[in-house]
Amino acid sequence: NENVSSNFIKNIIVNDLETGKHDSIITRFPPEPNGYLHIGHAKSICLNFGLAKEFKGKVNLRFDDTNPVKEDVEYVNSIKEDVKWLGFDWNNLFFASDYFDTMYEKAVLLIKKGKAYVCELTPEEMREYRGTLSEPGKDSPYRNRTVEENLELFERMRNGEFKDGEKVLRAKIDMSSPNINFRDPIIYRIAHSTHHNTGDKWCIYPMYAFAHPLEDAIEGITHSICTLEFEDQRPLYDWVVRECEMENIPRQIEFARLNLTNTVMSKRKLKQLVDEGITDGWDDPRMPTISGLRRRGYTPEAITNFCREIGVSKADSKVDSQMLDFFVREDLQPKAPLAMGVLRPLKLVITNYPEGQIEMLEIENNAKDETKGKRMVPFGRELYIEQEDFMEEPVKKYFRLFPGNEVRLKGAYFVRCNEVIKDENGNVTEIHCTYDPETKSGSGFTGRKVKSTIHWVEATTAKPCEFRLYEPLILDDAPENEGKHFLEQINPDSLEILQGFAEPTQLENAKVLDKFQFVRNGFFSVDTKYTTDDKLVFNRVVPLKSSFKP
Ligand code: ATP
Ligand code: MG
Ligand code: MG
Repeated sequence: NENVSSNFIKNIIVNDLETGKHDSIITRFPPEPNGYLHIGHAKSICLNFGLAKEFKGKVNLRFDDTNPVKEDVEYVNSIKEDVKWLGFDWNNLFFASDYFDTMYEKAVLLIKKGKAYVCELTPEEMREYRGTLSEPGKDSPYRNRTVEENLELFERMRNGEFKDGEKVLRAKIDMSSPNINFRDPIIYRIAHSTHHNTGDKWCIYPMYAFAHPLEDAIEGITHSICTLEFEDQRPLYDWVVRECEMENIPRQIEFARLNLTNTVMSKRKLKQLVDEGITDGWDDPRMPTISGLRRRGYTPEAITNFCREIGVSKADSKVDSQMLDFFVREDLQPKAPLAMGVLRPLKLVITNYPEGQIEMLEIENNAKDETKGKRMVPFGRELYIEQEDFMEEPVKKYFRLFPGNEVRLKGAYFVRCNEVIKDENGNVTEIHCTYDPETKSGSGFTGRKVKSTIHWVEATTAKPCEFRLYEPLILDDAPENEGKHFLEQINPDSLEILQGFAEPTQLENAKVLDKFQFVRNGFFSVDTKYTTDDKLVFNRVVPLKSSFKP
């Protein structure tokens, strides 16, 4: 693929290997375990694991768990599962929290070099002292504390003598730097909370901007790939590596994050959707999480092909979510067995078909591809068809079933509608037809033609199924929602639940996450949460067609 073979990150790596800067590369994927991974993370995973594979290097899965408050082992486990499911394996699994001792030592080193100090400004004061883009900052009154004083105070911070927020450790760089990140950034803060890995050993925690470059350097990462918003932090990243006298010098490279239409892509927002009960957990099939996409029926191949197609660039953009659908269709088309399923059932009775008789029809799995084989489908006097395949008063150009009209039942016979049965409210409850035995599919019948073929399911042998159809969760392209908060852009009709039926033989051994192509209705996947022994629950992955082409 061109996008991949020519991306700018690869050019850097090729150059670093050719010039001998590195003999081999090490990349890392560094999620913070504060939520489930989403499709944006998939892009980063494909990139980091993909580069390591292509250049025969190594890749670390590193949990960037330096913030004790929001992190949880549930997230750690889900992240491991999701990376594996996408088809990747790491060379090493690390926790940034395992480096807390080293990070503390490095902070002490900075103090000793006169490059860090303990500050007691309040957050408001600190913001004020920091200045703005057009205005230089001013020095904190604590900036010129002696090394001894700083060492003692930092030690006492560590020993738990102060409350959260009372003191911080700041790097001593340059309060008038045009790069605001250089204006004495905070590198350690006090947080009296239990950490999922280190328990209560620490009550001070390193800030991301200090911790991340150290983590990369400790692991010998050669190319540290992150998203564009960290571009301004690169000088600070390099400062930390240099001033902490790290042996390995990693290089930070930024690329544009993935944004998708009709969804939100930040763990914080996704967590809000879960916590407020707007979705049915992190793996709700409407979520852009890896686990949600998996439960919906997306495949690792579809996701990785999508990530390859969008490529890596330096320019932020928003990708149409239909592009992901294109790739899952392309992947499922040859893989998912064909079956007939009726989503909104209407009873059809063939009055001239013997009562109690079931005949097994042999139906081709793919009319265009014999190698896909055939399957046996029961046929009988009572069937279900789609409600939309019948109209009592047909509109113009409606060629499906209506009183007096004849259609083909897919793989079976012609039927003609003779009578419409209604309940006391006038709703159609059954339609009565006659069939013509001469017209059996495959018999070579050419006597007359019909204009349409509809699918069906034999009623007495049908498998009861629940079909769950999805629409976008977030209507961010709706004009009336423009500029609104994402919680006000929620689509109230993102889930439709239908009780229908499907042909039995093909679904005989269907198990969770099995995929099927239901004739005319789309690709479906067996749900992991609601499927029971009595009832298969299907998530519609995507409808069959879309006008979208990448
Ligand atoms: P979020 O805002 O969704 O929580 P994050 O960047 O804070 O995302 P991390 O767990 O810190 O999440 O991210 C792990 C890695 O995944 C980082 O290297 C980050 O740059 C990358 N990443 C996160 N979101 C995206 C995205 N939308 N597109 C590409 N890469 C992403
Ligand atoms: Mg983060
Ligand atoms: Mg974030």
